[in-house]
Amino acid sequence: MSVRWLFQPSALHWAWRTAALRSTLGRQRGVLRWTHSGGHSYRAVIFDMGGVLIPSPGTVAAEWEVQNHIPSGTILKALIRDGDSGPWMRFMRGEMTTEAFLEEFGRLCSEIAKTSVPVNSFFSLLTSEQVAKQFPVMTQAISQIRAGGLQTAVLTNNFYLSNGKSFLPLDRKQFDVVVESCLEGICKPDPRIYQLCLQRLGLQPSEAIFLDDLGQNLKAAASLGIHTIKVGQPEAAVKELEALVGLPLSGDIPNTRPVRKTMEIPVDALEKYLKGLLGTHGTGPMELLQFDHGQSNPTYYIRLADRQLVLRKKPPGTLLPSAHAIEREFKIMKALENAGVPVPTVLDLCEDSSIIGTPFYLMEYCPGVIYKDPSLPGLEPSQRQAIYAAMNQVLCRIHSVDLQATGLDSFGKQGDYILRQVQTWTKQYRAVETSSVPAMERLIQWLPLHIPKQQRTTVVHGDFRLDNLIFHPEKAEVLAVLDWELSTLGDPFADVAYSCLLHYLPSSFPILKGFRDMDVTQLGIPTMEEYFRMYCLQMGIPPIDNANFYMAFSFFRVAAILQGVYKRSLTGQASSAIAEQSGKFPEFMAELAWDFAIKEGFRVFKEMPASKPVVRTYHAWAGSRPQRTPAGVRSSSSVAAAAPSQETKGGLIISPEGLSPRVRKLYDRLLQFMKENVYPLEPELQRHQASADRWSPSPLIEDLKEKAKAEGLWNLFLPLETDPEKKYGAGLTNVEYAHLCEVMGMSLYAPEIFNCSAPDTGNMELLVRYGTEEQKARWLVPLLEGRIRSCFAMTEPKVASSDASNIEASIREEDGSYVINGHKWWITGILDPRCKLCVFMGKTDPQAPRHQQQSIILVPMDTPGINIIRPLSVYGLEDPPGGHGEVRFKDVRVPKENIVLGPGRGFEIAQGRLGPGRIHHCMRLIGYSERALSLMKTRVMSRTAFGKPLVEHGTILADIARSRVDIEQARLLVLKAAHLMDVAGNKAAALEIAMIKMVAPSMAYQVIDRAIQAFGAAGLSSDYPLAPFLAWARALRFADGPDEVHRLTVAKMELRNHSRLQEPAVPRVL
Ligand SMILES: Cc1cc2nc3c(=O)[nH]c(=O)nc-3n(C[C@H](O)[C@H](O)[C@H](O)COP(=O)(O)OP(=O)(O)OC[C@H]3O[C@@H](n4cnc5c(N)ncnc54)[C@H](O)[C@@H]3O)c2cc1C
Repeated sequence: MSVRWLFQPSALHWAWRTAALRSTLGRQRGVLRWTHSGGHSYRAVIFDMGGVLIPSPGTVAAEWEVQNHIPSGTILKALIRDGDSGPWMRFMRGEMTTEAFLEEFGRLCSEIAKTSVPVNSFFSLLTSEQVAKQFPVMTQAISQIRAGGLQTAVLTNNFYLSNGKSFLPLDRKQFDVVVESCLEGICKPDPRIYQLCLQRLGLQPSEAIFLDDLGQNLKAAASLGIHTIKVGQPEAAVKELEALVGLPLSGDIPNTRPVRKTMEIPVDALEKYLKGLLGTHGTGPMELLQFDHGQSNPTYYIRLADRQLVLRKKPPGTLLPSAHAIEREFKIMKALENAGVPVPTVLDLCEDSSIIGTPFYLMEYCPGVIYKDPSLPGLEPSQRQAIYAAMNQVLCRIHSVDLQATGLDSFGKQGDYILRQVQTWTKQYRAVETSSVPAMERLIQWLPLHIPKQQRTTVVHGDFRLDNLIFHPEKAEVLAVLDWELSTLGDPFADVAYSCLLHYLPSSFPILKGFRDMDVTQLGIPTMEEYFRMYCLQMGIPPIDNANFYMAFSFFRVAAILQGVYKRSLTGQASSAIAEQSGKFPEFMAELAWDFAIKEGFRVFKEMPASKPVVRTYHAWAGSRPQRTPAGVRSSSSVAAAAPSQETKGGLIISPEGLSPRVRKLYDRLLQFMKENVYPLEPELQRHQASADRWSPSPLIEDLKEKAKAEGLWNLFLPLETDPEKKYGAGLTNVEYAHLCEVMGMSLYAPEIFNCSAPDTGNMELLVRYGTEEQKARWLVPLLEGRIRSCFAMTEPKVASSDASNIEASIREEDGSYVINGHKWWITGILDPRCKLCVFMGKTDPQAPRHQQQSIILVPMDTPGINIIRPLSVYGLEDPPGGHGEVRFKDVRVPKENIVLGPGRGFEIAQGRLGPGRIHHCMRLIGYSERALSLMKTRVMSRTAFGKPLVEHGTILADIARSRVDIEQARLLVLKAAHLMDVAGNKAAALEIAMIKMVAPSMAYQVIDRAIQAFGAAGLSSDYPLAPFLAWARALRFADGPDEVHRLTVAKMELRNHSRLQEPAVPRVL
């Protein structure tokens, strides 16, 4: 099975889209017709007869004169001779009998021709059946005009025949009004006859269009205010009329062509069958056309006598049992028609292959309005709104059909529709896969994990879009829903989402025009969200919150289908040339699907239960101990497992079990993510870091970032205090984040995957706190989205940078800009090609007080004058692709508005920047340590030395114990610092921050060192993460500020506290 709408559109679309309507459209008076072009509302078309509907007397005469050797123009001259009082006009007004006319007219002609003219012969020809025959193009146009809801009239200058009847060789049923001059006694161009016609139509002149071949008749009509069309060639006139009324009128059935040789069907047998079926005894041959491109189920247009039909058949040859199930289409349309759903009227299912070679079914053909352009150009916003509302309404009708009452309860499987669909399309996609599409891979994993829990089962259309609907031309009412090939039983929201796909496709999209680039609200079209809401309201069900899931699913399905089309194009079985260009489309659709998956991920995350107020501080919970994952996470510890926390801001939660349900869920998901996605990829990521491509970001990381986003595991670092409205991040407290950050610390690759890595986190926090709206829009948003990276440039080779007041780089104001000069090094992340922003610290005023000399300025990395000299390495590790670079800034000029907060505020900002971010490294160091200890335990339990397992050697046991204690101590101090930051603020936590910075790197270094020792030489190799852990733990004793500086802080504060106690310095001697 495949969805046909993209590349086999015509067979289904154009057949069905123009296919039968159950009833002929009404032509109600007083109903304002919708204009689809030109902006005018016409309600009737008035036709002259001779020269418009049938050949004109002048044309007939010209041929007759040639054949009868009569001087050319004789008849014409006689027709106009004496104007109103001439014989022709009197004859037209019914003032003369035929005989009298012929006599007088004959005399006149002979006089003009100077020879005897046999006018009887001309008159016979003029009124013969063979000549006086309506032009087919006009018959078609009249039928379309009426079907389109307009009235039709014939306004003719005609005459009586010798049998006493007026000459009107037309089917009167085609017209709402017939005005004949010989009956009325008035002729065109007398205005009264036009007025009479309008009066009978019940219209104003401006509401009518008049077609005539004679200028004077048109002039008279125009002077009354009627729109006129001069008819030369009937085909051209119909085209002109078509443009005015905005309906397809030409005799061609849209998108049909003569039947292809290979698709021919036995016409005689079919005609016989149809005549038997319909009881039609029409004259003339049966007309048979084929709808374009029909490959799936060939579809034909049939005109037989006054009936217009559509025939749809199975293709010839051997077919898969489930394919081309036209019987199903017939069955559902029949059932739905009975249930009051507007569908084409199906007339007959013929399963007897002997008639035309395969089974087929028949529907009535009837045109209506099909809006091919979903932006509905030419309509008013209110009309667009009404059209979409009607579309929504009809969908509700389909979804409300009683399955049992209609006998459709066995039309498809019930339940698990989405899951089955995901599995089916995944299987089909795999079968036609040509290259790996990352978004598709992510979706294949993501969709089954997010299947909506509650699914209703209804009839689903499977291809429900605006251009599968035939609308009433005068009002927003759906007359028929077409294209039921993919219908089944399933989750109705799949249809709702599918109807919104075009909202997200650009108008230039080659295979299907969307309106992503338009302002839908201005157009009057409901947004996707509004469309869903409208649907729920109409159905009487509560609004759904997972519309994004259904959108992701719909785009995924389309992506899978397009992949199949592309594959077929490669093997030469493509349904059309357009398929060959379709290689890019699956990925395009998959990316769109993934965007929705990401939104859904965030939605799920944000809707987790919100924080409750503080219930207690300094809390320790009792309970059974947690068992953690093998990936180096706590497996047993002195940490007591907890009763689930009441929330949280301010709760000192010492184990993950104490986290609130919302954060606990997040924590568990993070653990799972690390286990499933991060640890297994470490060897590959490590290989990339050692490869020649190492200075380019690994595509694996980019993929994992997308995945993490979709899981809602993104920007978790931004603390609630900085982002109280949770505008930018997850709104965790520092304590909550500490537990999660520890988990991220277990892999060196993880922080970036969750957009929680330094120095971006600090820079983002700086922008949230101090950035202007422009700075946020330019830098913060892409950083939060993980599209760019950033660096922080403070340290300089020439000065001891642990004391920031030593910084020498200059930021000089010049001609309304700032010009930067300086030499920096150890600038983390600057080598990454994604690094687009440098947060630069330098001096704006070396003469100002010591802590007001510095400023921080935002420097776009593409500014001329930035010269990266080399990457630096830590114990030989270059840490690509970001690295740690040495860089010169030479006359780097940036706009003045790039300064953050203003000149002289650099120190203040640097302090703020390292607020909560100051202990993120410590949190991660606990993670390093846990993983190192876990690896150590595994190793010593699996190796034997000197007759017993390593784990039984006392020194090893002592090391394990030592490490556990060290980790627990450090973790408690991290949590305490985080807790104080939460409840008392960063300033109040200064001592704890300094203490943990002093403690954590050294603690981690020792725990890792013990693990390396227990590992043997392997511990130093790159086969395990221990060596880089050790290197980075060591480096952090500088990067996070040298130990000595933290010690100084602790000591100073300690001494300050001491002075408050006023302990005597000298022992008291009793
Ligand atoms: C891996 C890594 C990444 C880095 N990333 C960045 C970055 O992105 N951006 C950036 O700007 N910088 C970065 N740095 C630099 C880091 O911030 C500095 O190394 C740190 O601030 C120390 O400055 P310094 O190297 O100039 O040492 P100095 O200031 O020269 O200090 C040298 C030593 O002097 C001693 N000392 C200093 N002060 C005292 C004191 N008060 N009492 C006693 N002894 C003292 C300490 O032993 C200290 O280690 C990074 C460093 C590393 C290793």
